[in-house]
Amino acid sequence: MPIGYNKIEVLVRLGRIRSNFRLLEAKGGRVMPVVKADAYGHGLWPVARALAEEGARTFAVGTVEEAADLRRAGCRAGIVSLLGPLDPWEYEALWEFGAIPMIGEFGRLEELARVASRMPGPLDIGLKFDTGMSRLGFSEADLPGLLDRISGLAGLRPVMVSSHLAAADVPDLAGFLDGQVQTFRRVVSAFKARGLEVEANLANSAAVMARPDLAFQGQRPGVSLYGANPFWGTDLAELGQGLEPAMEVSAPVIEVRDVARGQSVGYGCTHRVEENTRLAVVAAGYADGYSRGLSNRGWALVRGVRVPVVGRVCMQLLMLDVGRAPGVEPGDRAWLLGGDGPQAIRPEELAEWWGTIPYEVFCLLGLNRKKYV
Ligand SMILES: *Cc1c(COP(=O)(O)O)cnc(C)c1O
Repeated sequence: MPIGYNKIEVLVRLGRIRSNFRLLEAKGGRVMPVVKADAYGHGLWPVARALAEEGARTFAVGTVEEAADLRRAGCRAGIVSLLGPLDPWEYEALWEFGAIPMIGEFGRLEELARVASRMPGPLDIGLKFDTGMSRLGFSEADLPGLLDRISGLAGLRPVMVSSHLAAADVPDLAGFLDGQVQTFRRVVSAFKARGLEVEANLANSAAVMARPDLAFQGQRPGVSLYGANPFWGTDLAELGQGLEPAMEVSAPVIEVRDVARGQSVGYGCTHRVEENTRLAVVAAGYADGYSRGLSNRGWALVRGVRVPVVGRVCMQLLMLDVGRAPGVEPGDRAWLLGGDGPQAIRPEELAEWWGTIPYEVFCLLGLNRKKYV
């Protein structure tokens, strides 16, 4: 009888995302889950639906297109679009799908004001400030002109003020963080002084965990909801205690073969077998998002044992040295992320072998077929 091989599969444990949400909310302030980029690869609607059931009232998506996707899927919560409108259709779509855009420059504000003048009702908007990222947002110097302008805009109603932290996960840069916080507090005060009722939000995952004093009226954690600890490997690592990674990735072992001492493995002969051993050939490769940078660096979990990736990762295949994992057979699952037991592979570890951060690991592996439990 032929063995059935399920190809690479992403297992998303929604219960863990729910419990991470509860853990983050228990630290203080209200959490506005960041579900941009398909919920960091975990699936936009399944994640948002689960978190809405946990009490999340507003979600932050990356683009107006994602806001439209979320609304069409059936989401009834508030939706904030961190980016855009970008494409022309996205302006009117804000009204159609009831999404709050984060506006951070005068050109887009004026464009939106023009659209608003021919729309039936006013649109809630957020205003985004650059306090240290040098990426998007009004500067503090823009404040007087901006406050004057928005006071006179009948079709746009400012309801939110926000900024993004550049280094809240780097304990050594606490001084830089404080500078951003001070600037943001001045911005918020300026809105208050004009009698503008806005909800302020600043914190990302690292700040939610380390700085409960920055909770304001809302917080925007992303990666911690999915179970990665932004302080992993730092002195503050214990702040992430209890976060459970929700994404696990496995692929099938399709062949097991004996190799003799001295034999080379894979393209470029980059690995030479030092003593007789067995290799498991796994049906996953860089076309599936498992980076070629993991060649001779990555580890997988097979039958509860950690085994090394040997030789170069190929387009749709990779090889593991399973000499220390007895009994491996075709049809076994190789866990590239997660897996059962104490040896489970953490996203922070995989990211380190990969030379990147868990965010990128989630986004790229999350492009594969997903299964929800
Ligand atoms: C992605 C993002 C977040 C979430 O950051 P994490 O480090 O994943 O918690 C918050 N705010 C903005 C503006 C973002 O783009």
